[in-house]
Amino acid sequence: MNVAQQLHQLQEIDLEIEANEGALRQITRQIGESEVVARAQKKLASERQHLEELQHQQHATEWEIDDLTAKITPAEEKLYSGRITSTKELANLQHEVDGFKAHRGQLEDKVLEIMEQVEQAEASVATTGEELKKLETEWQNQQQQLSADMERVKAVLADLRHKRQVLSDKIDPQMVSLYQQLRKQKVTAVARVEQGICGGCRISLSTANLQQVRSGSLVQCTNCGRLLYLA
Ligand SMILES: [Zn+2]
Repeated sequence: MNVAQQLHQLQEIDLEIEANEGALRQITRQIGESEVVARAQKKLASERQHLEELQHQQHATEWEIDDLTAKITPAEEKLYSGRITSTKELANLQHEVDGFKAHRGQLEDKVLEIMEQVEQAEASVATTGEELKKLETEWQNQQQQLSADMERVKAVLADLRHKRQVLSDKIDPQMVSLYQQLRKQKVTAVARVEQGICGGCRISLSTANLQQVRSGSLVQCTNCGRLLYLA
């Protein structure tokens, strides 16, 4: 293998290293907090709070009803006891009892309404809870997959870096340094020559240039500056 071919192989390894480094960055970005899960958690928390508020409202209204019943029962007993003989007093008491009962009726309607809302809120909490559980399971599976992928990519990278070291140790350091300078400017520093054309810039090589490539010496394309090699 001549220098150009060795540098080409080095480039192949470098491109592979870069691709794996990109994959590793992508995996690293995906590992950790999940926005979707966090959103679902927030939604569930707010739905639970709403449910608690409704339940509290229901109980408060039920207590109010109990209080009214506690007033109505003795008042009615008094009303029908025969102890009160004054017509006016009887009428007043009856009026008071009617007022309590009307208010209690309103509160009973309110409780029914609240109970309906409680039922809906409970259904929402159940649905969101299930959604969250599903999302968390998916996320956990994804995280496990990502961790496995990360380990695999890290192993591949370690292997590639080792291969690169072994190969670059065999090449003239000056050539490696020239290659690295070119790599900073271009994605590919080494271009394959096919049918007399530079694979980097698609320009036909001069006869002299082509001859040099064929002889195995390291030549740069006169147009794009890439190192040329024959496969
Ligand atoms: Zn070229």
